[in-house]
Amino acid sequence: MTVQFEDFKLRPELVQAITALGYTQPTPIQAGIIPLMQEGCDVTGQAQTGTGKTAAFALPILNRIDPEQYLPQALVVAPTRELALQVTEMIQSLGQFMGVSVLTVYGGTSYSQQLNQLRRGVQVVVGTPGRILDLIKRGRLDLTEVHTVVLDEADEMLSMGFVEDVEAILAATPDERQTTLFSATLPPRIRELARKYLRNPKTIAIQAEQVTVAATEQRVYYVNEHDKLAVLTRLFEMEDITTALIFTRTRVRTGELVNELNLRGYPSEALSGDLSQEAREHTMSRFRSGQVKVLVATDVAARGLDVEGITHVFNYDLPEETETFVHRIGRTGRAGRTGVAISFARPSERRQVRRIEQFTRQEMLQATVPTIEEIQAKRLDSLLSKIETWLKRGRAKEERALVEALVASGVDPIDMAAAALKVARAEEKQRPIPEISPLPEKAVRPERRARGERSERSERGSRDGVSVRRSRESDGRAKPRASIRGKQSDEAGMIRLEMGLGKVDGLRPADVVASIAGTAGIPGASLGRIYIQNHRTTVDVSEEYLEKVVAANGQFKVRGQFFTLIKG
Ligand code: AMP
Repeated sequence: MTVQFEDFKLRPELVQAITALGYTQPTPIQAGIIPLMQEGCDVTGQAQTGTGKTAAFALPILNRIDPEQYLPQALVVAPTRELALQVTEMIQSLGQFMGVSVLTVYGGTSYSQQLNQLRRGVQVVVGTPGRILDLIKRGRLDLTEVHTVVLDEADEMLSMGFVEDVEAILAATPDERQTTLFSATLPPRIRELARKYLRNPKTIAIQAEQVTVAATEQRVYYVNEHDKLAVLTRLFEMEDITTALIFTRTRVRTGELVNELNLRGYPSEALSGDLSQEAREHTMSRFRSGQVKVLVATDVAARGLDVEGITHVFNYDLPEETETFVHRIGRTGRAGRTGVAISFARPSERRQVRRIEQFTRQEMLQATVPTIEEIQAKRLDSLLSKIETWLKRGRAKEERALVEALVASGVDPIDMAAAALKVARAEEKQRPIPEISPLPEKAVRPERRARGERSERSERGSRDGVSVRRSRESDGRAKPRASIRGKQSDEAGMIRLEMGLGKVDGLRPADVVASIAGTAGIPGASLGRIYIQNHRTTVDVSEEYLEKVVAANGQFKVRGQFFTLIKG
């Protein structure tokens, strides 16, 4: 039998509010938590936003409030001002027929209003750890009558470094209080916190919503921590990004990254949990309209974020919990569109990557960072594309007139074109391609997999200018191989060839391999790195098969077009 709200024996004013809000049935987390809290148990609730968790603790709190007493009876601690305001709003909605007095306290605003309200008397306090502690220390917040404490989004409080503040706040409340802890994830440090401050807690877990990640291309780059920014900007050069959402572990890192990106000419903004609703909306609308292409956020700040058409999600820092990963990348590749999820992992985070792969049941392609040479080629390629576009459009009237005037005055047209290109490329010089230090020797060693995959033939390919190394399993399907290529394309024994077709011709690595290997009659594995740019493609061929490949020139055909391979 399904649980009904009537089963909870709530005050009539609360039942009235539930009806007014249009709730007909408790959500699973409410069905689990409410009876336990009413029995007086301490509870650990594992649930995300959107599950109805706020009402799950708000109803028992309100049911227990003594309306006659104007001293804080319940305390909710939340990681951000935004969440604190949301919780307050929910408590006020549910308590609308009781006339409950709720105070929200958070930093960054003046004390006077909060102090005035405290003087008048409040029954429920909701706030962020820093300001709550501040008011306790100033002797303005008396928590001695508090019977219920809720730690909301405890994992976020932990990752934001609020643990000590939370501990100090708990110390200011009565020992016999009831404590409920909510967290989207339960990493060991949260369990430890629960063990320390909750008495024989019962746990209610709501399964993480199953976000499909299949539509999303997933890549992982192993990078040194200090190279993350450099790698990110290199990828920005190579990827076709419409809008990107970057996740960092802490709010401080979010701010730092935004500064660095803006300095480097990538307009970006931070989405911080501290923003007022108005400021958040402002940022979001600029993101939606494309004025800002890059949004940097923590997991807390990104909650509830729903933007169509995010092409790239970057996990600048891997999340502590695998479930969080699913939520992050669930923001791309929606509505049938494919998105790209790019994760940066430190060499020491291989196990975390493995856990994520197991959880999502999807392997991440281990990709290599674009080289300086590749970025330069890409820059040149896009410059040529732009020139081509103008040549096709033929509407550069003013410029033509200028050219004609200069030619008439004796300037050599080729010299002039070269000088114009120099001017066009001046901006590039402002963007030096950052150096990246090699990974520690240990990290470069190919990882051994459990399933006896050591005898695979390796096949390298490239997607959209991104190099990936794949390996064949015995079933012949290409699978990402967990190894990092030490050197880039100029491997010993490989010769680089070039052809005049590229992305604009719809080329894919598999087509290139099939055409060259098939036509020249050589093994696919004799082809190395394939790098597809807009208008050209380079292919590395093993030296011993070079002759065969060159001999087949004139016969290579891909997607209906013939091509010739020449030395790159
Ligand atoms: P929360 O997970 O607390 O952020 O709640 C998510 C949304 O679910 C809020 O907009 C609530 O108003 C709504 N909600 C909470 N409980 C119920 C319920 N039993 N039935 C329908 N909606 C609910």
